[in-house]
This record gives sequence, C-alpha cells and structure tokens, in this order.
Amino acid sequence: MDVFDRIIEVTKPIAKGYILNLFGEPTFHPRFSDLLEKTRGFSTWLSSHLNYEEGRAHKLAMWDHLRIICSIDTLDAFEYPNYRVGGDYVNVLRNLDILANGACDVFPQFLVPSVDIDREPYIQFARQHGIPEENVILKVKLENFRLDPTSAPSPGKCHSPYMGLYFNCDGYLVPCCNNVNSALHMAHISQINSVVELYAGGKGEAVRKALAVDKNCFDSCGRCDGMRYWDTEFVDDLRAVQIVFTRLLKSDRTKIPQAGSE
Ligand code: SF4
Repeated sequence: MDVFDRIIEVTKPIAKGYILNLFGEPTFHPRFSDLLEKTRGFSTWLSSHLNYEEGRAHKLAMWDHLRIICSIDTLDAFEYPNYRVGGDYVNVLRNLDILANGACDVFPQFLVPSVDIDREPYIQFARQHGIPEENVILKVKLENFRLDPTSAPSPGKCHSPYMGLYFNCDGYLVPCCNNVNSALHMAHISQINSVVELYAGGKGEAVRKALAVDKNCFDSCGRCDGMRYWDTEFVDDLRAVQIVFTRLLKSDRTKIPQAGSE
C-alpha cells in the first residue's frame, strides 16, 4: 500500500485518471476498496471478468468514479468456457446487471476476430442490460500473445511512454501496460520525488528515445506491434484542435458589429 500511496502522491498533480489493472483480476486485491478510496475524485478504470459472488459486485457498484470494463468476451453462453476456463456466464450476467444498476459506469467488452464485424448484436446486448450503446468495446482477440524474446521480431517504433505513465505492481515506472522485463524498468517510485523526475529521472529518457527509434532494442518488445502516436492519440488530438478552432471562429463571428448598429 505504501508503493501505491507514493504513486498517487507523485502523479496526482498531473493525473487525468487512473487505470488499476494488476495482471489478473484486480478486484481480488485484499484491500481493493482502500485503493478505490485513494483514487476518489479521478476517473478510475479497471477490467473485471465478473466471475465472483454478487456481494463483490454490489461493493464495486457503489463507486461513482469507477469505470469498469466488463470482460463478457462472447454473446454465446455455450462458447464462454472457451474464453474463461471455469467461468460461469450466468453469474457474469447477474453481476453485469448489478453494476449497470449502480453508480459506476459499465463498458461491456467482447473479443472478436476483426473490428469490422457487425456491431448490432453487441449493441442489442448493451440495450438489454440498460447500458449505453457507445460503451460497447469490441477488441480483436489475440492468439497466444506473449512477450518472450523472439528471433523474428515485428519491426517498428513505440511511443507508449510518451502517451501515459505506467507503474507495475512492484512500483517500477515502465513504458506500457505489458509485463515487460527489467531492461524496461525506467525508475522505481522510491527514486521519484517530483513530476519532473517522472519524466527525467532514472533511465526514462534513454528508454523513451530508444523505443522511438527501434522498439526491438528490447527483448520484451519483439512480439508486440508497439503503440504509435500517429496511429492513436494524434487522431484525438487533431479532433480536439478542430473543435477549438471551430469554437474560436464561431465566437469571432459573434463579435462582428451588425451593419447600421452605430
Ligand atoms: S513495443 Fe509493446 S511491449 Fe514494448 S514498450 Fe511498446 S507497448 Fe510495451
């Protein structure tokens, strides 16, 4: 908990929100409610598979800063055990309804072969559970994705550490949400005492620059396609710039004096 407290303390001045994914089911952390209390006031995201008793779902449902990505995985109850060994689809749907009726926001996520598939059945599912259709997440299912070293790395660059701040469970600042090895540990939270040191401390600068030139300097990155700013954040940033300019133009127009008004 000390590590978590310190991460919150150092990042709070610049945080837009927090994502609490702990390599596994995050809600099984024995002090998960304490973690949520500490991020109160910030949008706090997590992914959950919903395979647990309904009491846990009720406890989660009360937090209004919580955004839960619910891993429903499939629309087909008979297929579900292929996605979640030992999972119980009936319990999953019961817990989904508890969350959807609570104070938190719910985002049902499905694993699909391609993002181009027909969204309609998934939207129908969301409607049946009282969830806004825009909250549906379709994610391409990756087969046997691992970060082991490979002799055939996928080529490319990665801008992930320029786009967010990530800490692993041991308190190391890392470039992304993957379980990367120690070559990509940029600094430990115990060595970081300010926002400036979040970006300039330890090996951070060297790792960011190396990934931006060739991600395959690092064994952990070989099988990963990397995150490129130009493919992801840039599109949103461009939209934001367009919105600001459109608003500026509209407000300027209102300042033009009307003919004959003087
Ligand atoms: S290439 Fe993949 S594993 Fe490597 S830093 Fe980027 S997102 Fe993480």
